[in-house]
Amino acid sequence: MSSADSLGPGPHSTPTEVRSRVAAPIDQCGHAVTVKASARGQRATPSIPDGAERARDVVVIGAGQAGLATGYFLRRLGLDFAILDAHLRVGDAWRHRWDTLRLFTPAFYSGLPGMAFPSADPDHLATRDEAADYLESYARRFGLPVEGDTSVRTLRRADGHFLLDTSHGPIAAEQVVVATGAFQTPVVPAFSADLDPRIAQLHSSQFTNPESLATGDALVVGAGNSGTQIATDIKEAEPMRRVWLSGRDTGLLPRRLLGRDIFRWLAPTILRVRTESRMGRLIRTRTMGRGDAVLSDAHERMVAAGVERVGRTVGVRDDRPAVQIGSGEPALEVASVVWCTGYRPDFSWIEGLPVDEHDIPLHRRGEVTAWPGLYVVGLHFLSRLSSSLMGGVGDDARHVAARIASRRAST
Ligand SMILES: Cc1cc2nc3c(=O)[nH]c(=O)nc-3n(C[C@H](O)[C@H](O)[C@H](O)COP(=O)(O)OP(=O)(O)OC[C@H]3O[C@@H](n4cnc5c(N)ncnc54)[C@H](O)[C@@H]3O)c2cc1C
Repeated sequence: MSSADSLGPGPHSTPTEVRSRVAAPIDQCGHAVTVKASARGQRATPSIPDGAERARDVVVIGAGQAGLATGYFLRRLGLDFAILDAHLRVGDAWRHRWDTLRLFTPAFYSGLPGMAFPSADPDHLATRDEAADYLESYARRFGLPVEGDTSVRTLRRADGHFLLDTSHGPIAAEQVVVATGAFQTPVVPAFSADLDPRIAQLHSSQFTNPESLATGDALVVGAGNSGTQIATDIKEAEPMRRVWLSGRDTGLLPRRLLGRDIFRWLAPTILRVRTESRMGRLIRTRTMGRGDAVLSDAHERMVAAGVERVGRTVGVRDDRPAVQIGSGEPALEVASVVWCTGYRPDFSWIEGLPVDEHDIPLHRRGEVTAWPGLYVVGLHFLSRLSSSLMGGVGDDARHVAARIASRRAST
C-alpha cells in the first residue's frame, strides 16, 4: 500500500473540501490567473504517451517540505498531480536523522503555507520526530496525493513531455517539480580512506546516536550546527570519553537578541534577501561551502559538556586524523570519526540536464531555463537565503505552482 493510500483524507479537510474552498488561482504576486477548466481538475485523464504506464499533468518528486508545500499550492490551483517519494512515510527524511536532533528554527518559523507548526510556545525548538509528524499531518490535512516507496530512477525529456522511470513503472508528465532536497550526496574528504580501518567512520547522515560509535574517544569533523549538536550528544552520553570538534569557525549567532528569538529578527530581514540582489550574492558567496553560523545556545551546550574545540582536520598521519591545534597539527588517538562535512547536490539521474559549476540545474527562480516545464524547489538560495528552510520554502513553492498553472493554461 502506498503512502497515498495510507494517508487518505485528514480529519480537517478532504481533497474535495480543499478544492471546493479554493478561490481563484493565484500567481506569485497574489493575483488571480485564468486557468482553463481542464487545468483546474475537470479535464479528462491525461493521455498516456508511448513508453509510459500512466500519465499525470504534473509530477512532484519528493514529499519533504519543498514537495509538500508545492503540492499545497498545486491543490489550491486544482491541478492534476502526484507527489512521488522514495520513502515509505511522509517525514521519513527527518526520521532518518539522528535521534536527539532539534531544529534550529523555532516553531513560529518552521511552519509551511496554510498550517502553522503546532506548539504552545512559538519559540519551541522541535525535535526530529515532531518535524516528521508535522509534515505527515500536513500532507494528510490537505489530502496531498503522496505515493510513497516510489523512487524515481531517471528523468528524461521525450516528445513534448517528461518520462520518469520509477520503481513502480514509467510515468509520463507534462511538467515536473524536482523537490529532492538540498542535502543529497554526503561529502567526506578523500583522505578519510587513509585512516586506520579500525577507526569507525560515519557521515552525519548515518549517525543515529552515540551508541552507534566505537567505544573510546571521538572526533567530530565539521563545526557547523550539525557537528556542534552531534559532538555535544556524544560527550553528554559518555562524559569520560574525550570528544574533539574540529573545523573552521563558522561564526556565532545569538539565540536571542533584545529578548526575542534571533529568527524574529532574521525572518523579515536577512532571510528574505533575494539571491540575485547585491547583498544576496554577497551572502551566498560568503556562506557557500563554509557552513552556517552556529546558534549560541548550541555552542554554549557544547562548551558546558566539555567538548574540546580544535581547528581543521588537515589530513592523516600515522593512520590517524591530524588536526590543527595552535601552531601544531597533532594526530589524534580516536576510536571514531563522525564527518559532519556536508553534502553535494546530485542531479545526474536527470539525463542531459545542464548544471552550473556547483552541479545545480541552471534555473530562474526554480524554473529550469533550458527545459521548460521542469522546476526545482527547496535548493539553497533558490530565490532567497531562506529557500531551503521550512519557514522559507513556501514562497518558492507558491511561485513555481503559479508558473505551472500559467503554463498549463497556455498549452
Ligand atoms: C541535520 C539537519 C538539520 C536541519 N534543521 C533545520 C531546521 O531546524 N530548520 C529548517 O528550516 N531547516 C532545517 N534543515 C534544512 C531543511 O529544512 C531540511 O533539510 C529539509 O529536510 C529539506 O526539505 P526538502 O523537502 O527540500 O528535502 P528532504 O526533506 O530531503 O525531502 C526530499 C525527499 O525527496 C525524496 N527523494 C529524493 N530523491 C528521490 C528520488 N529520486 N525519487 C523519489 N524520491 C526522492 C526523499 O526520499 C525525501 O523524502 C536541516 C537540515 C539538516 C540536514
